Amino acid sequence: MKKLSIHLETDKLLDTVISKLPEKIADYACNGIGFFENLKENNRLSYAICLDTKINKYRHFIIFDSKFRRLPRKKKLFVIAHEIAHAYLKHGEEKGKSKMKREKEANDFANKYGFFDSK
Ligand SMILES: [Zn+2]
Repeated sequence: MKKLSIHLETDKLLDTVISKLPEKIADYACNGIGFFENLKENNRLSYAICLDTKINKYRHFIIFDSKFRRLPRKKKLFVIAHEIAHAYLKHGEEKGKSKMKREKEANDFANKYGFFDSK
């Protein structure tokens, strides 16, 4: 797991989420995903994005937007699990699947491992 400019608090949340995932998925998250916290304010609506890169061993990069920092803890955990799902389920490669379907799958994945969306 490569972590770039990740705050200590976010780092702990990543560990919390990964500790609740099955070993196979946790391994995938640790070896195939790079995490980056973007501190610059921007107008994106999302809290985080999952990029499907082909860069070296990190197949995916999950980038947390500045808005992420202001979320309640419970919601942060959900967002992390949701983005890991996009990476693990290789949503970047599935051209045929609708965005709605991919989002639902990522939400279901997060719910399955005990993380729930909250307002
Ligand atoms: Zn999503």
